[in-house]
Amino acid sequence: MLGNAPTDIGKKADSLMGLYTEHWNRYRQHNARATLRVLAVLVGGLGGIALLGFLLGPLTDVRMAILGGALVVWLVGFIGMAVRANGVDCPRCSTKYARGKYLIACPQCGLKMLQEDP
Ligand SMILES: [Zn+2]
Repeated sequence: MLGNAPTDIGKKADSLMGLYTEHWNRYRQHNARATLRVLAVLVGGLGGIALLGFLLGPLTDVRMAILGGALVVWLVGFIGMAVRANGVDCPRCSTKYARGKYLIACPQCGLKMLQEDP
């Protein structure tokens, strides 16, 4: 029956949900937003520093120091953001770890990233 179709689909989706599905769905959303923020800070920061350099005019020692300082502050903030954007909360044991090229499982309990069932 056509009228029952949406409910059936809903039930099917529920039965396919693993214990950690909701956690990983939230993680994916959070991760996508964090990646966008990192890109925005990358482009905005470099553009801002370039603009600052333009506004300061010809480079003298003092202006170089101001620009260098701004670059260091931006770089430290940017790296901190990028590291946080790579952070993963393990839904099984609550360990926080940084996702890497080879690290795709919790170092504490071994739960793989995006693994939905225990
Ligand atoms: Zn864990």
